[in-house]
Amino acid sequence: MDFRVIPVEGYEKVVQCHDTYSGLNAIISIHTTAHGLALGGMRMWPYATLQDALLDANRLAQGMTYKSAVAETGFGGGKAVILGHAQRDKTKRLLRAMGRFVDVLGGQYITGEDVGTTVEDMSIVRQETRHVVGLPRAQGGSGDPAPYTALGVFLGLRTCVEWALHTTDLRGIRVAVQGCGNVATHLCQHLRQAGALLTVTDVVPAKAQRLAQQYGACVVAPEEIYDVPCEIYAPCALGGTLNDYTIPRLQCRIVAGSANNQCLRAEHGDALRQRGIVYAPDFVINAGGLLNVAMELAPTGYDEAHVLEKVRRIADTVRMLLDTAASQDVSTHCAAMQLAEHKLDTARQIKVSSPAGRGAPAPVSVGTLPGRQRRHSSRTPAPCTAAVPHADHH
Ligand code: NAD
Repeated sequence: MDFRVIPVEGYEKVVQCHDTYSGLNAIISIHTTAHGLALGGMRMWPYATLQDALLDANRLAQGMTYKSAVAETGFGGGKAVILGHAQRDKTKRLLRAMGRFVDVLGGQYITGEDVGTTVEDMSIVRQETRHVVGLPRAQGGSGDPAPYTALGVFLGLRTCVEWALHTTDLRGIRVAVQGCGNVATHLCQHLRQAGALLTVTDVVPAKAQRLAQQYGACVVAPEEIYDVPCEIYAPCALGGTLNDYTIPRLQCRIVAGSANNQCLRAEHGDALRQRGIVYAPDFVINAGGLLNVAMELAPTGYDEAHVLEKVRRIADTVRMLLDTAASQDVSTHCAAMQLAEHKLDTARQIKVSSPAGRGAPAPVSVGTLPGRQRRHSSRTPAPCTAAVPHADHH
């Protein structure tokens, strides 16, 4: 087992993990544990290069810090990525090797499922470490987080429809869903039940066909999804799909989906706003799964009713951010970053002033945001100052 620390500015610990026996090549990125242990899923994806994997791990880990802050889970941000093809390269040996690397970090990083990994995979990882969540219900875990993520996305999306289109009726509303994986499947079920009309795509055509049959969706090729005339574009695949190449093509009024890091860079939140597209910030709207796995670690034990109550509140946070962004003339992405930074600052201050020092961060209630009150013209949105690591793929 080879464990190499990669120094990355602004990150607490980033390690490259290599295991010759299983063929494992992975990155674990801990953005921060200043507000609690770093919690974030384990992704398996065929990255072209180690650099791509490193960039993705770091962006995802930072996103988890913001997501946890806004959702008030009391955890910090971390993420793991395994280089490889989930269908072809994932073996028990490889997952167990990954579990050993997670274990070496001594609980600083707690893992769970993400793209390319499943609840069953987590129970294999559990054979090597107890620092894993999203375990099967039969093993005392919280099960698959995807249904909770999808519920939060659906409720947040409906809030956007109400805010932008002045209706709560989703009948006939056209939704273009990118990616037909776990979260998208549950999201499509909610949307179809509400009477929405679906267009779907996936780089694995069989996955798109399955949703087409299940929910009467139209299927388009992956590259065509950005050009589909619709009310809502729901990115539920990978990150960075809101960028210089795609934003000018979008035919929607709203972007609301489950994918992490949807905006390639913070300025893409401004670009959406300039086009008059209402954007539900990803790390706010997709926090349902995090809320579910975090409850697995609650001292009181897992309580589904409590999780659902918290997931429903995602819609309130989305509404507050839409209002705040409009009143402060900033993008919703920027408003969400400011909210996260504000909550992180408050948690830091509470920690410093608390005699326990490293006690659990006290929740900060969702209210009005601090920051810019000065109004800007809608043509020149105020730049968002909170930084997001850059990536060059699109
Ligand atoms: P998944 O692996 O089940 O689904 C992702 C799907 O996207 C796959 O079917 C994949 O083939 C497809 N895909 C990848 N690139 C694509 C592209 N360019 N065009 C079209 N399809 C593409 O993963 P998931 O668990 O459903 O997660 C989806 C997204 O939501 C990810 O970004 C994930 O990080 C995020 N997310 C998931 C959860 C959760 O609870 N699972 C929670 C929060 C955020």
